[in-house]
Amino acid sequence: MLAAFTDAPAKRWDPWAGSAWNGAIAEAAPPGDPGARVRDAQDKRGGGEVLMDRIWHDESGRIDIKSLDRAGLERFMVDELGEKRFRALQVWKWLWQRSARSFDEMTDLAKPTRAKLEQAAFISFLELDTCLESLDGTRKYLWRLHDGHRVESVLIPDEDRLTLCMSSQVGCAMACTFCLTGDLGLKRNLSPSEIANQPLQVGLDEVARRRAIGLPDPPGAYRPITNLVFMGMGEPLHNIDNLCTSLDAILHDHAQNYSHRKVTVSTVGLVPKIEEFAARTPVNLAISLNSSNNAQRDAIMPVNKRWDLEALIEACKRLPLPNGKRITFEYVMFRGFNDTLDDAARLFRLLKGVRAKINLIPYNENPHRDIRRPDDADVKAFQAYLFARGMNCTVRTTRGIDISAACGQLGKARLQVDGLEPMVATG
Ligand code: SF4
Repeated sequence: MLAAFTDAPAKRWDPWAGSAWNGAIAEAAPPGDPGARVRDAQDKRGGGEVLMDRIWHDESGRIDIKSLDRAGLERFMVDELGEKRFRALQVWKWLWQRSARSFDEMTDLAKPTRAKLEQAAFISFLELDTCLESLDGTRKYLWRLHDGHRVESVLIPDEDRLTLCMSSQVGCAMACTFCLTGDLGLKRNLSPSEIANQPLQVGLDEVARRRAIGLPDPPGAYRPITNLVFMGMGEPLHNIDNLCTSLDAILHDHAQNYSHRKVTVSTVGLVPKIEEFAARTPVNLAISLNSSNNAQRDAIMPVNKRWDLEALIEACKRLPLPNGKRITFEYVMFRGFNDTLDDAARLFRLLKGVRAKINLIPYNENPHRDIRRPDDADVKAFQAYLFARGMNCTVRTTRGIDISAACGQLGKARLQVDGLEPMVATG
């Protein structure tokens, strides 16, 4: 259990002092902010919570050491503790490969070094609130954060892969009308440790469950999950600094060691951030598209009023994609809204010239929205149309619907915790 976080300890080590990131706190939403409407609504509900910045300390002023990337950890060990640079790698491995819970476990460090670490830093873990398992094997983890907020991660087993769907923010400012997370508004960004701890802790849980039923450890037992997707709560590029810091602990050879080919970040299309994202990290990009013309997209995704489809597709075309890489375009299908062959034809024209693969996602109906799932026949016809024209196009199978873990359903638990009335869909 973490100690409470405070706003103003007497002395704190600032890992970003003097860097371009200093003061780059959970930035306000972009100009023409699509989330403003939601945040207003949230304030009227008496929320009015502040976003969390990039500095994570407990009430004694100790830093959350897992929120540092490798370079930050080196600076901390050298500048703050007066240790040799190579000690940072030892600590890094203990944190992200051996899942150490205390500095005392780090037995290849001298006792005085461990004591200094204990005084200046703490090791954070997420607190598990609830874990629900679906009939299809999907598991939803509800995490309770140190300030009482909750976020979710969803583990989806498939034949040859084990995919974790991760969250990047508490709530979301983007207000997509079909998504329950959007109803929450943005409460705050997740810190790098709150992001990178999700695969670490779900992986530990998976290994423990396998052992409990006598199954052998999977290869690389500290990392049994095969794929990570940032498609849970939040808009990852709206929290790009913390996202990139967390990716260091996810991708680094001596940390969780995921291949960048197995990690995908999904965005609604914050155009200026897309280029920055591609420059800062090699992981895969997915665009939550959902419409093939601006009028349609405006109605369900307020972000489109700021950066329309032309601007978004242009930004995608400009990306320097390595050979063999494609951008995934997610297309949630709503009955009678965007599921006709005319829509398929427009989508085909829109994505011509983009190295794209399309992922069709039939909408998951829920009691909070008056939106219908398309007929299976219409989904198949839509896919066949694109296939016939050489587009790489798959249909995502719905998973975890009985535990509200399917696409667009995350945040329902949070709504129930808050006793908030979800907004009525307008799309
Ligand atoms: S779909 Fe994604 S970006 Fe849109 S409101 Fe939901 S979580 Fe936010």
